[in-house]
Amino acid sequence: MNKLIIISGPSGVGKGTIVNELLKKGDYALSISCTTRPPRSGESEGVSYFFISKHEFHSMIKQGGFLEYDKHFGNLYGTPKDFVEKQLQTKNVILEIEVNGALNAKKSYPQALLLMILPPSLEELKARLNHRGTESPKKIKKRMERIEYELSQRDKYDYTVINDDLQRAVDEIEEIIKNS
Ligand code: 5GP
Repeated sequence: MNKLIIISGPSGVGKGTIVNELLKKGDYALSISCTTRPPRSGESEGVSYFFISKHEFHSMIKQGGFLEYDKHFGNLYGTPKDFVEKQLQTKNVILEIEVNGALNAKKSYPQALLLMILPPSLEELKARLNHRGTESPKKIKKRMERIEYELSQRDKYDYTVINDDLQRAVDEIEEIIKNS
């Protein structure tokens, strides 16, 4: 039986790199979300997201078409149920999503495995964000608050994995998936 693996973690923790390593192994597919926000340059339909209209999004909500959905920065984002279920027929499916979406997805799909990636040191992660130098202090403060919030939800996850070393973390995640 293939598994739905939901991966969250604070911004800057290296989730994307971990997910890419897992995808390289070939046993995993990535869930692609629907969004009402317009594509950014370099993003393409069905790869980054399925870009749909508000009208389409609302009719999918009515039809129960989402495992979960949420609003971020005025745009709607959701995990399409059909797409995930279809992919689960052949592979484990990875859903990389922020904490609230992850917890909601687990409610509608309780068999899902919830994994949170943690930094080796919170202080180091904060320092890294501070030194990016591209964001205003107000934005940095918001990001920090978001990190604190995401970390405060860690007890609701099935497992937490520390990204101290990429290969070690990927191996640990594979071990968890195999044994759960
Ligand atoms: P962005 O527009 O920068 O790609 O994403 C904005 C936010 O939407 C991020 O926090 C991202 O995790 C979240 N997001 C992306 N897809 C989904 C989804 O399917 N469901 C939920 N709840 N959030 C999502």
